[in-house]
Parts: sequence; C-alpha cells; structure tokens
Amino acid sequence: MTIRLAAPFQTIGRLALAGIIGASLIAGDAGAQQKQPSPGSAKALFGSASLPAQGPAQSIGFYSKGCMLGGIALPVDGPTWQAMRLSRNRRWGNPAMIALLEQLSRDAQQKIGWPGLLVGDIAQPRGGPMFNGHASHQIGLDADVWLTPMPSRRLTAQEREELPFTTTLQKGKFLTIDPRVWTQSHAKLLMLAASYPQVERIFVNPAIKKKMCDTWTGERTNLGKLRPIYGHDSHFHIRMKCPPGAAACKPQAPISDGDGCGKSLAWWFTKEPWAAPKPNVRPPKPPREMMVSDLPKSCAAVLDAPPAASIAAADGGPDATALTVAPAVPAAAGDLLPAIGPVPTDKPLVQ
Ligand SMILES: [Zn+2]
Repeated sequence: MTIRLAAPFQTIGRLALAGIIGASLIAGDAGAQQKQPSPGSAKALFGSASLPAQGPAQSIGFYSKGCMLGGIALPVDGPTWQAMRLSRNRRWGNPAMIALLEQLSRDAQQKIGWPGLLVGDIAQPRGGPMFNGHASHQIGLDADVWLTPMPSRRLTAQEREELPFTTTLQKGKFLTIDPRVWTQSHAKLLMLAASYPQVERIFVNPAIKKKMCDTWTGERTNLGKLRPIYGHDSHFHIRMKCPPGAAACKPQAPISDGDGCGKSLAWWFTKEPWAAPKPNVRPPKPPREMMVSDLPKSCAAVLDAPPAASIAAADGGPDATALTVAPAVPAAAGDLLPAIGPVPTDKPLVQ
C-alpha cells in the first residue's frame, strides 16, 4: 500500500494541532460540527481530559448526550486488531465495548477468516461530546470499525494517522457498491458483528444495506440491525445496548421488527435524502453550543473525578505505551475523505 507523505509539520501549540485534526474529519462519522469549541463548553472540557475518570464503569446519559466513568482503553495492538488515529485519543470505552471489540476481532479471524480489525474512534477518555467527527460516541458504547482488513504487519503510528479510507462505493455512480472492493467477507463481518445480542445497531451506508438485502442468503434475523445512514461507506459503526443494570444509561428505542429491506431502505434511493436545501429557505440557526450543564448532572462530577494513574493503568495491554504517537500531520484533503461519487456531502447524523 502507498502512504502519501505529507509535508513536515511542527506542533505550534494545542490549538493549532486541534485545528488541523478538526479540519481533517479523518476517522468517522462526517457531519458533526467542525468549529473550534469555545473555552468552557462541553466539547472543550471533555476534549481536554486526557485520562479516564476513576470509578466503576458507567455509561451516563444517551449516545449523543452523555459521558462515561471508569472507561478503559482498547490496547493499541492486539493479536487481531490495531487501533487507528491514535493522536485523537478516542480508543476509550465502556469495558463491555472493549470486550466486544476484542471478541469480534477474534471471532472474525477464526470464523470468517477476516485478518483482523482496524478500529477507529470509540470515545474520549471521559466520553462526552467531541469537537469533530461525531454526534454520538459519547458514552463509550459506540465504536467505528474500518471496512478495510487489518494488514499482516503492524502499522507505524504515522501510518495509523494517514492511512486513507477506502470507500466501498463505486465512483461516479449513485449509491452503488464497488465490486472491486466489496467481498463476501465484508458481508460476513457485518453479520457477525450484528450477531451479538448486546449489539443493537450497526450503521452502514444505504448502498451497503441494499447490497446485504439483495445478496445475503444466510440467516436474516439480524439483518434488521443494519441501519442505513449517511457516510459509513468505509467504516461501520457498532452501537451496543445499555449494559444490563446500567441505570444511568438511557436506551435508544428498539429497532422495529423485520430485516429493514423494505420501504425505509427504498427512501434512501429517492432524491429526498440528498436534495439540496431550497434556495430561498433561510438555513436553520446552528444549535447552541452544548455546555456541561446540558448533559446529565453526574457528567460534571465525571469531569472533576480523579484520573486513572496513567494510560497504561487503564489499558489492558502490555503494549499500551509502546507506540509513540507522532504529532498529527496535515495531509491533502483528498487523503482524508473518501471519494463518494455524486453522493452529496454527509448530512448531520440523525441517530
Ligand atoms: Zn461512528
């Protein structure tokens, strides 16, 4: 694989670095607000917590409005996974999420021959809203997994920052899977991920959902967990149910019965979801910036809680600190977003 090397970059302070990462939209759900957060906002405060809050693991609030206590990190490397975009420091999650990712990576290798997972964003050390890339991922129960198989060698920290996404969509066509990229193993990986009872939803591009509806010949009970959404053509997004007994975790409405291959999917192939706003309609006012007081009450305490002693202390793997993270390097815009043909820019998530 070829990694395009970007121009050398010198860190000129936290804000400059954050700005570059913010502009890049590199791993994940496009569409969330890209503007720098104001000092004191929930995004700024949760984004600056570099270590998790000590305490019993708790996912507090809703996927798109909450925080996390007692998060642990997915080790940078495991036998069947590699964590990506390390500089973002978003490989933290509820222990149930970390366990699920490790299990999925093992099962994927053993049961379907997928070589291993490249894992993108999970959550910030204390969860909470992120200044770029996602509306959800706030309570440690959402994770992005690349649709690119893990290479057989260990990627360097720089490669993990810069490895471009590979879209599964065909360039120049509307919502069409690229047969040169898509394989039956991709389909099996998605259905394996959907097979765990603790997984409630898997977000994928509508073209992927359609491909699955049209071609999956195995058991279809879990097909309904695959939910079509903007973006998600180079990665898929796993959302877990609130773990049993997690009183502070606010569940999402259960998905409706059925395989989701009918009307609701057909809508994505109409013009409506992709229509440009009418020229004379004034754009809606951007929502007010989220403050800590907008989150569940205990999220303020999560911010104030003492940190875990170190990343290694909150990370199950021996290699946790072995891979030094290079400063983020600005790359050409073409490296950062998959070319998705005529499909318009991702709209804000409505999950
Ligand atoms: Zn995601």
